[in-house]
Amino acid sequence: MASDATEPTSVFVGIGSNMENPRVQVQRAVRALGGIRETQVSAVSSLYLSAPFGPVEQPDFVNAVARLTSFLDPRQIFGHLQAIEKSLGRVRNERWGPRVIDLDLLVHGMTVMHEDDLTVPHPGIAERNFVLLPLQELAPDLEIPGLGRVADLAVDENEPRISRLD
Ligand code: AMP
Repeated sequence: MASDATEPTSVFVGIGSNMENPRVQVQRAVRALGGIRETQVSAVSSLYLSAPFGPVEQPDFVNAVARLTSFLDPRQIFGHLQAIEKSLGRVRNERWGPRVIDLDLLVHGMTVMHEDDLTVPHPGIAERNFVLLPLQELAPDLEIPGLGRVADLAVDENEPRISRLD
C-alpha cells in the first residue's frame, strides 16, 4: 500500500532484548529501523537494564525507545517491525518469555486504533517503567492520546528494578 501522507509523523518504537548479547541486538534493531522506507530515526534513548516481568525465570532485558519520523501509516510501520523481528532471528513467542528482539509500536502521532493484532498507543506504555523512563528521556512533552503528557505519567515504584546503562 502506498503512503499518501504529506507530512511525516512522529513515531515511537519500544525495543527490548534479553538473549544473545542484548546490547548488540538493540543496536542492530536501531540500524534496521533506519532502513525502513520513508522513515528516519531521529533519536534513540539511552539503554536501560530492566528485571523481567512475569513468571518465567530469564535474564534481564536491555530496553530502549527510538523516535522515528515517518510518512508510513501505523499498519505499515507495524509490518516493518514484524519483518525486522523476524530478520533479527526472533523465533520464540512465549508470553513473558525471553526474546532476541521485541519491537513495539508505542505511539504513532495522534493515532488511536484498536484492532485484533494492533493497538495504538500501545496499552503497556503507562504500566511499564522500561518504556516510560526512556520515553520520558526522549520526549517529556509528548502528548499521548488517551494518556496525556509523558512527563506527567507516574513511574511505578513497585515495578521490577530498572537502571540506565551508559
Ligand atoms: P510481544 O510478545 O510483546 O511481541 O507481543 C506481540 C503481540 O502484540 C503481537 O501479536 C501483536 O499483534 C500484538 N500487538 C498489539 N498491539 C501492538 C503494538 N502496538 N505493537 C506491537 N505489538 C502489538
